[in-house]
Amino acid sequence: MNIILLGPPGAGKGTQANLLVEHRGMRQLSTGDMLRAAVKAETPVGLQAKAVMERGELVSDEIVSALIDAELSAMGKGTGAIFDGYPRTEAQAVSLDELLAKHGRSLKHVVELGVDEDALVERIVGRFTCANCGEGYHDSFKQTKVAGTCDKCGSSEFKRRPDDNEETVRTRMAEYRAKTAPILPYYEARGIVSRVDGMAAIDDVTAAIENILRG
Ligand code: ADP
Ligand code: ADP
Ligand code: ZN
Repeated sequence: MNIILLGPPGAGKGTQANLLVEHRGMRQLSTGDMLRAAVKAETPVGLQAKAVMERGELVSDEIVSALIDAELSAMGKGTGAIFDGYPRTEAQAVSLDELLAKHGRSLKHVVELGVDEDALVERIVGRFTCANCGEGYHDSFKQTKVAGTCDKCGSSEFKRRPDDNEETVRTRMAEYRAKTAPILPYYEARGIVSRVDGMAAIDDVTAAIENILRG
């Protein structure tokens, strides 16, 4: 099963994708994570993407679609893909269809996480992750069980993204509204879009998504 998690920055896509990976053995394909890895490794793609990401604008369609193509090539055919943060433009949605066909896959669900925009800023500025295992946390909504220690791996090192500041978040939301939200009708026409209340508690959102995937 291949699915898309769609929603603005901070909607909970990464959080839910991680849980689906744990519960269902699916694979998370996050173009944001791939791009951050490329920036860190200073690859040609990373060097090109760095400033664009810092401004909160979108990286080119060609770059992200090539990243997804490479990941799908490397994946076992039987493993389901969770597209997280991709596609973000109509051109990417068209590319994804071509890539799925090329890799012998089909799209089962597009799950849209609906969230209140004011809450997103709070979510984004409070977001941090474990520097060792990548587990995601939040200053108010998902604290570590023991202060300063990762629940998953016990590390005491955490990091925050340079683009998780209020100013950049506003740009990222504007990008979402202008370029990403308009791709919904593309999938609605196929009857595969389901909406989930992303303002609910993390576990409730997971239950709602599980319901859709079982349905
Ligand atoms: P996205 O991948 O869509 O940008 P994340 O999954 O990283 O979003 O979530 C953004 C922040 O909000 C994280 O710090 C996460 O712990 C927190 N968060 C995610 N889902 C919820 C929720 N349902 N309620 C409260 N906080 C949440
Ligand atoms: P969030 O879920 O919080 O919006 P992501 O980690 O998905 O953040 O993306 C971080 C940044 O990486 C985006 O602001 C954008 O610059 C770039 N990016 C990630 N995915 C894409 C994509 N599919 N198309 C273009 N740019 C992307
Ligand atoms: Zn950890």
